[in-house]
Amino acid sequence: MTTATIDTDLVGRGARDGGRLFREWFEDLTNVAEQEKGAAYVFVMGSLTELLKTFGFPVVFPEITSLQTAVRKCSDEYLSLAEDHGFSPDVCGYVKADYALQLRKGDHPMGRIPPPSVAVLTNACNTYFKWAEIWERMYDVPTLAVDVPGSRESPGQRELTAEGFERDRKYVEHQIVEMIPTLEKVSGNKFDIDRLRETLRLTNEMGRSWRRVLSLNRGTPAVFDAMMEGTIYLGVANALRGTRGGADYFRDLEEEMEYKREHGISPLVDQEEKHRLAFVGVPCYPIFRRFYQLFAEWGGVFSSSTYMWFASSGLNLDFEYDLDRPLESLAEGVYRSVSHAMDAMLFHEKALIQAIDDFNLDGVVYHPIKSCRTVSTSLADSRREVLENRDVLGLYIESDMMDKRVVSEAQLKNRIDAFFEGLDSRKLRKGREA
Ligand code: SF4
Repeated sequence: MTTATIDTDLVGRGARDGGRLFREWFEDLTNVAEQEKGAAYVFVMGSLTELLKTFGFPVVFPEITSLQTAVRKCSDEYLSLAEDHGFSPDVCGYVKADYALQLRKGDHPMGRIPPPSVAVLTNACNTYFKWAEIWERMYDVPTLAVDVPGSRESPGQRELTAEGFERDRKYVEHQIVEMIPTLEKVSGNKFDIDRLRETLRLTNEMGRSWRRVLSLNRGTPAVFDAMMEGTIYLGVANALRGTRGGADYFRDLEEEMEYKREHGISPLVDQEEKHRLAFVGVPCYPIFRRFYQLFAEWGGVFSSSTYMWFASSGLNLDFEYDLDRPLESLAEGVYRSVSHAMDAMLFHEKALIQAIDDFNLDGVVYHPIKSCRTVSTSLADSRREVLENRDVLGLYIESDMMDKRVVSEAQLKNRIDAFFEGLDSRKLRKGREA
């Protein structure tokens, strides 16, 4: 298909609309902050957004506001301010950027972020607890923690019995029910189960399209890059979860990706897809576009990523809320999504091996980062296991998602170039053998 015949209104719409919706979301938060009102703070993994939206809370995702300071190239100002207040350089960069954001009265490169009036967290990452304690100390706001059971063993070794699963689900449900009086008190609104049902229904719609979009990337060429466009889609999936705007966005995105699949349109510009890759970890946001280009210039496309698994709050799972039992089903969704997110960070090797087969991958890129121990844990072991089981190449590069002091573009480029030279020569050799 020539460039002239491509429907340019359709191709690229997801990235354009995603950027617009994201800016509007920040504008809404700025309006809340300017009215001196607070918001509900919640984390991406196990977000419980549907419940918070039921009470009419504006919702802030502090991981997203923090990472945007890096994408907007000013995270160093925030990190330095937090370190001046005693935070160690190796503490999670998201926490430090958020702490500095609070000191700066919500001043953010995309607007102004309201302070928390309540915070909701799960145990998906241990840092969440220490982070929420900061808001507790700064603002004396209620922080509501939901303890979600994780996998007892590496996935696939021993599955929970139906009774065990139900016990875990109920454990989560009781904690969610216990949160409701506090949310009613802080918001001033009574809990309305029909409103919850509606937000869950919209998340179901969003999830159906999201899973279809993910599955379309199994074909060749891929229809989007899971690290570049995938991060935009993830932002919308989290910020607009449980809303009409979010569900419509993903329905449109599905239409765009179907079109790209039908016409064989790759996300690469002026370049053919040569190598299909999986990305493990969190992207390097301080040089986000350049980081992407270092792979794209060699015809490398990320067809899949563990980020899309652990940061979509379960949207990638084949699960829909049962609207006849909203609270019970919300608890099941939180239980499934958080334990899946923990597995996707800590025990992803089996899922990666499966992805190598499903997405027909040539290589896996591991990106451990200095300031997030949680997603960087055990990546070297994972690489060994994956390479022992599949004939792919692995690349292991270290930098950070926030702190440009530990990002060396020249070193990254050297390693990435050598990786692609290896992939190119394997392709040539295999072609000759064939
Ligand atoms: S998962 Fe990593 S980046 Fe996210 S809060 Fe935990 S330590 Fe920070």
